[in-house]
Amino acid sequence: MHTHQLVDPFGRRITYLRLSVTDRCDFRCTYCMSEDMQFAPRQQILSLEEAYAVADAFIALGVRRIRITGGEPLVRKNVLSLLQRLGARDELEDLAITTNGSQLGELAAPLRAAGVRRLNISLDSLQRERFAAFTRRDKLEQVLAGIEAARVAGFERIKLNSVVQSGRNDDEVLDLVEFAIARGLDISFIEEMPLGSVVSHSREQTFCSSDEVRRRIEQRHALVRSNKVTGGPSRYWQVVGTQTQVGFISPHSHNFCGDCNRVRVTAEGKLVLCLGHDDALDLKRLLRAHPGDGERLRQALVEALRLKPERHHFASDEQVQVVRFMSMTGG
Ligand code: SAM
Ligand code: SF4
Repeated sequence: MHTHQLVDPFGRRITYLRLSVTDRCDFRCTYCMSEDMQFAPRQQILSLEEAYAVADAFIALGVRRIRITGGEPLVRKNVLSLLQRLGARDELEDLAITTNGSQLGELAAPLRAAGVRRLNISLDSLQRERFAAFTRRDKLEQVLAGIEAARVAGFERIKLNSVVQSGRNDDEVLDLVEFAIARGLDISFIEEMPLGSVVSHSREQTFCSSDEVRRRIEQRHALVRSNKVTGGPSRYWQVVGTQTQVGFISPHSHNFCGDCNRVRVTAEGKLVLCLGHDDALDLKRLLRAHPGDGERLRQALVEALRLKPERHHFASDEQVQVVRFMSMTGG
């Protein structure tokens, strides 16, 4: 009865939800967190029961793809139980996770068994010291073992995510592409976004555009535009003669908002309508004031969608506009 009620004022139908299950993480990537992050007290984070209630409401309203993220979703205690419940929902066409890979050695097989179809695994460098500089943790080996475990577990697709920074890892673009090709994985290169306040580097100096990354890849490989449409910020290219697709996530260089079909819910239960705006609806307050009242929750979601902004306003020459780290919003 409620199916397809999630349409924003610009006619975009919302079919995709990113749900963050924690703001915590076992890494401290420099572009994402400070070393001494203050995390939210546990009672401010949605319980797994509440997170499921939110997902359930979105599914009832027509959402067909859910991505679980964080923080690091796989450090959330019992996260597998949430994924098992979601994996059992026949309405979902896709259930995916974005992870730093550190826990996949243990969790890859149970996640696949729970019904998770696709994984995005972040990997910025294949060099141990650089990896440690990016993440502030010396865990490259563990992550590579996690990627291997994920391959063995048989996910439908595995995609690597690499944030590219000039002078830091831009010379590894081809190595990362070869790594992906050799394993039949996809890979997306991400331009750093101006989220949160970062002291460890100057964004003007490290900015590396997607066009530049693509030029580097094309020095060795032919790329043809893929017709894969995600409704997200990625544009995909097929590496000719391989299984691998390369994506470019370019919040600075291209305006990708026109066909945006997604909303996010933070670990604290805030419904964020656009990554580039601060407007948010407090679903946690509603869930706790009216536990078990699915109808009220669905109504609130339908009404909130009327506020989804037409576009974001990131620009590479502007300083921090959104004082909120990605780990809080859910990347
Ligand atoms: N912990 C998981 C991981 O690292 O994949 C999931 C959450 S993380 C916030 C999701 C993605 O956001 C990662 O691929 C990360 O590289 C990316 N990310 C974090 N901060 C970013 C920033 N300031 N600009 C661009 N991408 C960012
Ligand atoms: Fe953790 Fe992911 Fe943020 Fe890195 S990008 S600090 S792994 S949440």
